[in-house]
Amino acid sequence: MRVLVIEDERRLTENIARSVRESAGYAVDCAFDGENGLFMAKSNPYDLIMVDLMLPGRDGLSVVQELRRGGANVPILVLTARDEKESVVALLNAGADDYVTKPFDLGELIARAKALIRRGKGESDTVLRFHDLEMNIADHTVHRDGEPISLTGMEYRVLEYLAHRRGAVVSKTELLEHLYDFNWERFSNVIEVYISGLRRKLGDAKGEKLIQTLRGRGYVLRA
Ligand code: CA
Repeated sequence: MRVLVIEDERRLTENIARSVRESAGYAVDCAFDGENGLFMAKSNPYDLIMVDLMLPGRDGLSVVQELRRGGANVPILVLTARDEKESVVALLNAGADDYVTKPFDLGELIARAKALIRRGKGESDTVLRFHDLEMNIADHTVHRDGEPISLTGMEYRVLEYLAHRRGAVVSKTELLEHLYDFNWERFSNVIEVYISGLRRKLGDAKGEKLIQTLRGRGYVLRA
């Protein structure tokens, strides 16, 4: 998953970005003003956008309005200050999905971020089930046919993305764009490595194949 953080307080932005990367395992891009944030939000396929309300230039409310007006359905989580309660109503009416009030606990922020992403993908449960595969996206555990499977961080992220899109063909570019930040092009050769690691660990060689490759098109999770 890939998250955009639009926040002008650099220290806070860095803390959020580190926390999202480390505890959720998502890729993170940062913007420090509303105009640039809006531009990045429109140019990249984010799975979640976190936007501060008070920003230099274009404020958070305007970013939300502009994105929704353009038809973007990405989940949006707004960061507000304690004295901005009235704006929260305007934000929610403009199409923001949730908000947190500063100072917030980073653990709570991550939990809300995960919930919004999950719901944005149409999942109501924190356990994704596919055939005999079970992925718990809250604690990042994976089981196949009841047996625990130990994955590296990147293998997990690839599998989680495929599981959210189960049944659909996912191109390598789509995987790269959702698993890495703006430098994603330089990782274009590693996806095959993660896919082959996943296949080995999921036992695709022995049992029923879960990850299928469609030549020239991408990968699909299907039994
Ligand atoms: Ca601010």
